Amino acid sequence: MKRSDNASLKQLNSFAVEARAAQLVEIERAEDLQVFAREFRFDRERDLILGGGSNILFAGDIDGTVLLNRLVGRKVIDESDDTVLVEACAGENWHRLVEWSLEQGFSGLENLSLIPGLAGAAPIQNIGAYGVELADVLESVETLDLADNSWRVFSADGCRLGYRDSRFKGVDADRYLVTRIRLRLQRRFTAKLTYPGLRSELDSMGIIEPTAKQVSDAVVRLRLRKLPDPAVNGNAGSFFKNPLVTDGLANALAQEHRDMPVYPATDGMRKLSAAWLIEQCGWKGRRLGGAAVSEKHALVLVNRGNASGAELLELATAITDSVREVFAIDLVPEPRIVRP
Ligand SMILES: Cc1cc2nc3c(=O)[nH]c(=O)nc-3n(C[C@H](O)[C@H](O)[C@H](O)COP(=O)(O)OP(=O)(O)OC[C@H]3O[C@@H](n4cnc5c(N)ncnc54)[C@H](O)[C@@H]3O)c2cc1C
Repeated sequence: MKRSDNASLKQLNSFAVEARAAQLVEIERAEDLQVFAREFRFDRERDLILGGGSNILFAGDIDGTVLLNRLVGRKVIDESDDTVLVEACAGENWHRLVEWSLEQGFSGLENLSLIPGLAGAAPIQNIGAYGVELADVLESVETLDLADNSWRVFSADGCRLGYRDSRFKGVDADRYLVTRIRLRLQRRFTAKLTYPGLRSELDSMGIIEPTAKQVSDAVVRLRLRKLPDPAVNGNAGSFFKNPLVTDGLANALAQEHRDMPVYPATDGMRKLSAAWLIEQCGWKGRRLGGAAVSEKHALVLVNRGNASGAELLELATAITDSVREVFAIDLVPEPRIVRP
């Protein structure tokens, strides 16, 4: 187990903003978890679990411990004629896990290609993209309960997954350290092409009946074109969730704004495009100090150089205020925000 004091978190978050942790603890071997469980009293108010840092904005320092779980490993633990059950340790890089699953001939993860971060964080916000979310393949999640250092396994239902949400993002944030996830993947591939841009990308590649690998390639091409590269301009992908509103409100807004995109959602709700709302308020490409709204995608806030977390938060707040003023809708941030 690696420990360091007064550690910089700049290299550990995809916004690449400076922040410090009083202590950094890195779990490198399975035994480290036992030592950690024995020796540490994790305090949810003060300490924080960190994965790859691609869905977090540090607008303040961490007075306590930042815990990194870097245990890696992946394997098939059960199989039938049609499906396989894959287990991945929390420290596995998500995209490499997707690539590995495709190399084995398993499908189910192809639409989730190139999402940054580690496997352990995938259930936290029920990662989703291009018409698929983790909930479609998740079987269970193994955790260490940091309240009493006991092991607990949650079924997919028990994780209470929702749109970019789960129990681990809400009431149980920083209570359960995810140690392994189990995914039910398919041996026979059925393409999920409900997301319109994905079908047209495959068309432009001259592919009519794609393999899982070709769907993954199309997703990678789309993502590289649409999203700013965090290695060049720090960002956390979509900064706001698409708002879910009642049918009635969606209809009223659509009457007033004829070109407003409205998408179907579950439980009598409709989904609006946060990017469209932000663009209508004139924010696309705008800068506030070192923080900016991407020119490529209005939903992505970027660090243009030396932005601080506080500057990025200030920009996010200004955007939220103007969307509320114009559309009476409260945007909800997708990444976790560590406030000063
Ligand atoms: C360019 C870009 C594009 C993106 N595109 C998408 C997308 O298409 N869809 C999508 O859903 N997300 C997307 N994201 C967001 C992000 O990649 C995902 O949310 C990812 O799952 C975060 O993984 P991470 O390991 O970096 O988590 P972190 O950012 O380190 O942590 C995120 C949250 O999970 C908690 N956490 C992390 N690991 C554990 C663990 N082992 N146990 C318990 N809690 C833990 C943290 O405390 C924190 O609250 C994108 C981000 C970027 C930068």
